[in-house]
Amino acid sequence: MITVTLIPGDGIGPEITDVVVEVFEALGVDVDWEVVNAGKSVMDKYGTPLPDEVIESIKKNKVALKGPITTPVGSGFRSVNVAIRKKLNLYANLRPVESLPGLKTRYDKVNLVVVRENTEGLYSGVEHKISDFAAESIKIITRKASERIIEFAFSYAKKNDRQQVTAVHKANIMKISDGLFLDTARKVAEKYPGIEYNERIIDNMCMQLVQNPEDYDVLVMPNFYGDIVSDLGAGLVGGLGVTPGANIGDEIAVFEAVHGSAPDIAGKGVANPVAILRSSIMLLNHIGESEKASKLDQAIKKTLVKGKGLTPDLGGQGTTRSFKDQIINNI
Ligand code: NAD
Repeated sequence: MITVTLIPGDGIGPEITDVVVEVFEALGVDVDWEVVNAGKSVMDKYGTPLPDEVIESIKKNKVALKGPITTPVGSGFRSVNVAIRKKLNLYANLRPVESLPGLKTRYDKVNLVVVRENTEGLYSGVEHKISDFAAESIKIITRKASERIIEFAFSYAKKNDRQQVTAVHKANIMKISDGLFLDTARKVAEKYPGIEYNERIIDNMCMQLVQNPEDYDVLVMPNFYGDIVSDLGAGLVGGLGVTPGANIGDEIAVFEAVHGSAPDIAGKGVANPVAILRSSIMLLNHIGESEKASKLDQAIKKTLVKGKGLTPDLGGQGTTRSFKDQIINNI
């Protein structure tokens, strides 16, 4: 039996994480959920959106499933998501982008993985105002963090039988910072002669992804480009309701859907559980339950192809519950 931290989160978070608990029961996964919560819902009780027990639980169990957490814009508390990544040094953001059968999109053979550096770059938080007329935001690129994320991308490619890694950059303009990232990528690539290595400038990368996403496999890039390209990727394969993600460090991994707490539909019972379930497939693979991961993957795909019980965001008339029931039937 393995203990996994479960953070239900805000908005639709509890509705979709409940689905994962039920689906794991149906799959017969031997997991003990340690439920702790973060976000808006615990703010009043603890006076903080991120109580220490959440971090302690994740540190102890080393693996967590997290529902989305609301971050108020402009005021209120800082992002709990960013705080969790920083406190636990989850330096790699991993987002698989895969076409799903049964979902009508513009492309049908996309199968790529975006690996985003999660700790530095333009999101280092080093920002200041010089006067009323000027402000500076400092982009930090270090060889250490670049090497760590690029090494992660290559070793992920090797482990998952992927053939190609593309480093994404803007070193033609940011010659020193992105130049350092690129130089590091070239050095790491030399250690993996079995994997094709190539490079793309970020703007060209975006165009290529919109024109020929099928040509790409593993993409690795600094924080800011990764933030944008991973949402672009979600758009290629059916949007936020179906896109999974994970934040990974050397010892700890936190799995979560890419979407937010969806306050507009929270409590209505119509949230699409596919994104969090696909994050749970990544979790199952991470804890060595690859057979059950593949069973769940097939059940989701079968449900999408049959098209029964799907939620409104996928064009169906069903609910979270009807969608879950169909997936469990198909397991
Ligand atoms: P959102 O992803 O919550 O919602 C965007 C749109 O997509 C909404 O119309 C919503 O109804 C729809 N949607 C999202 N997930 C869905 C699902 N599973 N099923 C059906 N429809 C779905 O983005 P937002 O509205 O910009 O953000 C809401 C809150 O979530 C904000 O406070 C934001 O900071 C937070 N957020 C948290 C995370 C996280 O916890 N990792 C990520 C992104 C946003």
